[in-house]
Amino acid sequence: MAQIIDGKAIAARIREEVKAGVEELRRQGKTVTLAVIQVGEDPASCVYVRNKEKACRELSIHSLIYRPSESIPEGELLALVEELNGRTDVDGILVQLPLPAHISEKKVLMAIDPSKDVDGFHPYNAGALACGEPGFVPCTPAGIIQLLKRSGISISGKECVVIGRSNIVGKPVAQLLLRENGTVTIAHSKTENLKEVASRAEILVAATGKAEMITREYVRPGAAVIDVGIHRDEHNRLRGDVNFADVFDVAGAITPVPGGVGPMTIAMLMQNCLEGARRSFSEKPL
Ligand code: NDP
Repeated sequence: MAQIIDGKAIAARIREEVKAGVEELRRQGKTVTLAVIQVGEDPASCVYVRNKEKACRELSIHSLIYRPSESIPEGELLALVEELNGRTDVDGILVQLPLPAHISEKKVLMAIDPSKDVDGFHPYNAGALACGEPGFVPCTPAGIIQLLKRSGISISGKECVVIGRSNIVGKPVAQLLLRENGTVTIAHSKTENLKEVASRAEILVAATGKAEMITREYVRPGAAVIDVGIHRDEHNRLRGDVNFADVFDVAGAITPVPGGVGPMTIAMLMQNCLEGARRSFSEKPL
């Protein structure tokens, strides 16, 4: 039977730590400030932005929420990002994705000053991560490393397999596992003999976007299994990329969905805001 990795409890501890850091900065006269831009009213984006706003409030981070209409011209959105780049009181800028089809996500993400890019999606920060330089690390991958470390699962020297190679999850989590001295394989939809590759892993990260695809045949007995997926089934219940019930008695440790990776993403976003504020306050931006 696997140890359940309790993302909710670990995220709560990180939020406490961030809150203490935010209060410490406030005592020194610096208010940590996050600007969030949500274009239009995509229902999922509304929920995500509300959750971020709530987390900021709980941690005494000042949030500035911008909700331009769906029809905002690309140039106006870029001008808003530019204005926020120039504001010394703003430590982090986040543009909620997806953007409407007439706006280039790439252009907008590239416009964010890398030293305020708390989502860690700017190519500068992706490059910094690959080169081992300081920068912002994307929140979900950073959360995965914290889940492992804070559950006493060592990464150094371990066989790690990441299934998925997206820029926001698969690639950065692989870079972070490598930074922690894991021996890392990245698998994807063109990988041959995926079950065989996956079952070499002592740490298996599933980020395929395919509900409950990972069954026990993919899992080495005793492996730590990190499930990044979020899906709603026909009963509106949350499911992961891992078939939890099937894998539970094979794995050594496993993250549940919900309550595993999910809560870590916002906790790490808050942590990135604090980091950004600390850097700007000490005048050591990237
Ligand atoms: P993407 O769809 O961008 O990437 C999926 C990756 O999985 C691709 O690299 C793809 O390969 C690979 N893949 C797809 N099908 C297979 C398959 N059958 N066998 C092997 N590899 C496969 O997804 P994301 O990385 O954005 O997200 C992954 C999951 O994590 C999703 O379920 C998403 O909802 C969830 N998520 C959760 C977050 C959280 O906070 N918990 C945050 C972000 C994402 P290829 O490149 O060859 O197409």
